Amino acid sequence: MGEDVERLKRRTPLLDYLRQHNWAGRPAGHSEFVGLCPLHKESQPSFYVNARKGVFYCHGCGQGGDLIRFVQLSRGLSFRQSLASLDPEITPEADSSAVLEEAAAFYQQQLDRCPEALDYLHRRGVHDPALIRELGIGYAPGGTLRRYLMALGHSFDVLRRRGLINAHGADALYQRIVFPLRQGEHIVNLYGRSLGSAFAHRFLPGSKGGLYAWEKVCNCAEVILVEGLFDYVALRQAGFHNVTCSLGTQLNREQFRQLCEGERTVYLTFDVDQNQSGQQAAEQLAHRLVVHGISARRVLLPEGHDPNSFFVQGGDPHQFQSLLEAAQP
Ligand SMILES: [Zn+2]
Repeated sequence: MGEDVERLKRRTPLLDYLRQHNWAGRPAGHSEFVGLCPLHKESQPSFYVNARKGVFYCHGCGQGGDLIRFVQLSRGLSFRQSLASLDPEITPEADSSAVLEEAAAFYQQQLDRCPEALDYLHRRGVHDPALIRELGIGYAPGGTLRRYLMALGHSFDVLRRRGLINAHGADALYQRIVFPLRQGEHIVNLYGRSLGSAFAHRFLPGSKGGLYAWEKVCNCAEVILVEGLFDYVALRQAGFHNVTCSLGTQLNREQFRQLCEGERTVYLTFDVDQNQSGQQAAEQLAHRLVVHGISARRVLLPEGHDPNSFFVQGGDPHQFQSLLEAAQP
């Protein structure tokens, strides 16, 4: 046990831990830092950290000790609980995946209870209840996730580490439509699309994973690639099943590798926006795919459109089919 504790403390230096929890300390001499005490209310800094020794002492409340002691005091945990909350081997990746599953399920339940979220989906042309269920689309009203997940036995630290909440315990995804992103069986991230226009969308920290719903299309000889999940939904509703989504115009290594495995034609259907960024990205990607022996075609939507707006504003499957047929290498 003693060895485990030492290993844990080496891996998570006290100062790093404090900073991850938003402690703002300033240097105060040789490997010392001083700032406001997180353990009691004060206006003058009296909380000292010795970064080299990994210990703290507060002249205000008289508390002091190492990382484990700090976690015990700040979170009201026992020594053993503090260890468990800090040690990734005691809270392994499986836990992180489980907590995402439960968060996604919670958000899914909220969707039907929030008319503003359903309104937004309808405005964006998302109307097929079976598809909404299949994709696990949900809604994060904000302010309720931590209580729900902690009642299920997840620790504050796991939620925090997974990025579901901020240091104050508030939901990271707030008033956002939520799409779970899966890789195989497991949810690897959540994508949140804001109902408002500020900070339109975000992912939780960490990888966005591979191509969206890739397992459904990986054997297709022709694949339509779109950049946004609302584009994906629009095409699925219009009856196109060989669709996948890269969640942005820049593919990560895994996504690019997926497109390149096996022989296929990829129809790049990125936004046609005024600044041309979607089309430039499509052109570069097409070139990279061709270099890797994959046939790539660029689908040219009408000016100012993405696949979602194309269908929302009255485009029909036949018209889109014609665009696919007219796609240029
Ligand atoms: Zn104090």
